[in-house]
Amino acid sequence: MSSQPLNVAIIGAGLSGLSLAVALQQQNISCTLYERLASPLNIGGAVMLSPNALKILDALSVYPRIRNKGYSFETLEYKDGDGKLMEVYEFGGEAKYGYKGLRIYRTALIEELLEILREQGVKLVFGKKFKRVVEESEDGVKWEFEDGEIGEASLLVGADGINSSVRKYLYPDLTPTFTGGIGITAAVPTSQLKLPPGYHIPVTVMTPHGGFVIAPQEVDGPEVLIGKQKRVEKDHGRAGWDAISADKEALVKFLQQGAENFPDFVQNAVSSIPHGKINVWPFYVVPKLDKLTSEKRRVIILGDGAHAIPPSAGQGINQAFEDVYMFALLLGQADKVDMQEALKFWQEYREQRIAQVLKLNKQIEMRRMTEEEKLKENIPAGSIHEIELSSLYKPDFKKDVDDWVAAKTVAA
Ligand SMILES: Cc1cc2nc3c(=O)[nH]c(=O)nc-3n(C[C@H](O)[C@H](O)[C@H](O)COP(=O)(O)OP(=O)(O)OC[C@H]3O[C@@H](n4cnc5c(N)ncnc54)[C@H](O)[C@@H]3O)c2cc1C
Repeated sequence: MSSQPLNVAIIGAGLSGLSLAVALQQQNISCTLYERLASPLNIGGAVMLSPNALKILDALSVYPRIRNKGYSFETLEYKDGDGKLMEVYEFGGEAKYGYKGLRIYRTALIEELLEILREQGVKLVFGKKFKRVVEESEDGVKWEFEDGEIGEASLLVGADGINSSVRKYLYPDLTPTFTGGIGITAAVPTSQLKLPPGYHIPVTVMTPHGGFVIAPQEVDGPEVLIGKQKRVEKDHGRAGWDAISADKEALVKFLQQGAENFPDFVQNAVSSIPHGKINVWPFYVVPKLDKLTSEKRRVIILGDGAHAIPPSAGQGINQAFEDVYMFALLLGQADKVDMQEALKFWQEYREQRIAQVLKLNKQIEMRRMTEEEKLKENIPAGSIHEIELSSLYKPDFKKDVDDWVAAKTVAA
């Protein structure tokens, strides 16, 4: 790459794009964000942040600003309908992983990232929709916005979500695949549940009729997310999902359906559901991609656009933060190492991490299966092992980048 200072154009001001801008600022790399909407996309609801992401947000000085804006917790319990503990899944742990898990409203996180970018004077252009890459050279890239304007930068990063338009430059024919599952969630006051004294939440209550999730949110947990998953035969497409999301009465009915098969507190939870906080999440995946950068490595995709993954391990956003942080750390070394090689290293590292999460997802899904489902899927007894989370939650990205750079500079 040329010795000119890098300037990066980021398409999409979701969590990937906003956090990338913060990470680039830390490396003194100039960037501009372009977002198609008039204000940040608010998909709604809260998200779970695990220690791997919190360590990154800490390194970016974001964590101290958000840690008191969400619900901190360590474990999610799986219980049967009689309250018998079936399994404990760790979402964090201060002693073991350095951080507890944090359940925080997406809007709270976005607002904080926006505030940091405002303080740093980063340029963010709302209502500007990327259309297509026009030209890529050894030194930079030109692209067109929907309004016909041509943009130019040394790097173009597609942080534009699962239906990424930037990705079309790398994969013109790729469309995300619908997994056949959707999650329907709502939020109700915790007091409404009348939980038995000492009953641990977050919890997934597993019965032969399915699972029901209860997860506290907001500081100290005055509110809980409640939710169920559903199998759906066909992909309804964006307009179809919007229509399903809009029919709040039908969604309330779905959440209430079969509640009599669950403990009293689940029945209490669904007894009154405000329409305003109901969300529908259709689960799509982006198939494994063999490249996250263009040939000349001037166009890069990351976040959901590069690897939307099933929700089982709750790693979607957490993996996006990993993409962003490592990418920025490597760009920060542009004067020391060959950027082509650095981006190759980044891509291989990220592929490995995503493969690890997909494997973990599979393990989690197998553990949630009923005996009947296991038989149907030919899963032999004894093939389900303890889940090991340290390698997921405790990587040291900074050290890994520093070690790689050191090895390259010694070799040179
Ligand atoms: C209801 C719901 C609940 C979820 N809960 C969780 C959770 O608990 N934990 C978790 O890890 N993940 C969760 N996810 C997944 C998570 O939201 C995604 O992994 C995450 O949002 C990906 O961030 P992103 O920035 O890559 O993409 P997005 O959040 O999709 O952001 C992309 C941005 O790019 C913009 N954009 C798109 N196209 C263009 C264009 N052509 N020009 C300019 N801008 C453009 C969009 O408007 C958007 O602002 C959930 C998803 C949904 C739908």
